[in-house]
Amino acid sequence: MKIILTMILRFFLAVLNLVAYVYAAPLEVNTSHSLEKRANPRIGPGFSRQEVRQISDGFQDAIRLAQYVVFAPSDIFDPIFVKYFDIRDRRKVTDVFRRILGLPPNLESGARLLGDISVVVDYEDEEGDLACDGSTGAESRNVATDHLNIIICHDLGFENGGIFKGYPDVDPVTCESQSRRVSWRMETMGYALIHEYTHWNKLVAPPLRKGTDDLVYGPYGVREMRKSRAVNNADSYAWLANEILWTTLCHRTYGDPRPEDDNPE
Ligand SMILES: [Zn+2]
Repeated sequence: MKIILTMILRFFLAVLNLVAYVYAAPLEVNTSHSLEKRANPRIGPGFSRQEVRQISDGFQDAIRLAQYVVFAPSDIFDPIFVKYFDIRDRRKVTDVFRRILGLPPNLESGARLLGDISVVVDYEDEEGDLACDGSTGAESRNVATDHLNIIICHDLGFENGGIFKGYPDVDPVTCESQSRRVSWRMETMGYALIHEYTHWNKLVAPPLRKGTDDLVYGPYGVREMRKSRAVNNADSYAWLANEILWTTLCHRTYGDPRPEDDNPE
């Protein structure tokens, strides 16, 4: 009798263990999920509430841009890619976007490494120079260190809306706000962040030799440059992502940019 009771008790305990295991499993997923949530860059002091919102939305949009590159079907990806890069750099370039998403891809907050980035207001560098000179929207500092600082300039850095997101005095960027060609109208905070992320050695090297430089800007500019150099040019990555995302989201093929499409006016 005692043996039977013990057996029943053991069986009961085993079932209890199984139940506990099944319930613990999703809990564990939740825990790592909330850890991942901290992966997005930090936002330093000195920004207005709206600026903070635009930056946070920009983090999401940057991940969305990277996601559309990495998961683009080949009928969209292939013809667009060769307008910006040498086909031989395909693996290298898509690996840069994979590095932004993390491994396995985290489509909510991107790679853990992004948590080592701070988005900050302008400050003087060692030479006493400021980044925001009236023509700059964003600039990266400390690209060769473990902690990247991205300066976003008041006003100019906040002129673009988010992907389908608008703010007081800032229009959303939508399919309707596009022109028929690839143009500055595709620019968002997320686009600017993708550009800055590729400057950071720690994030993109490898697959690159080091962080990207600023050789050429704008959709017309980056398409005109020598393709073999594009792999080292930040804006080439950002415009590849722009064109793939807006082509996919709007189910539309965009015409080639002209020089006047690089900037408003
Ligand atoms: Zn740059």
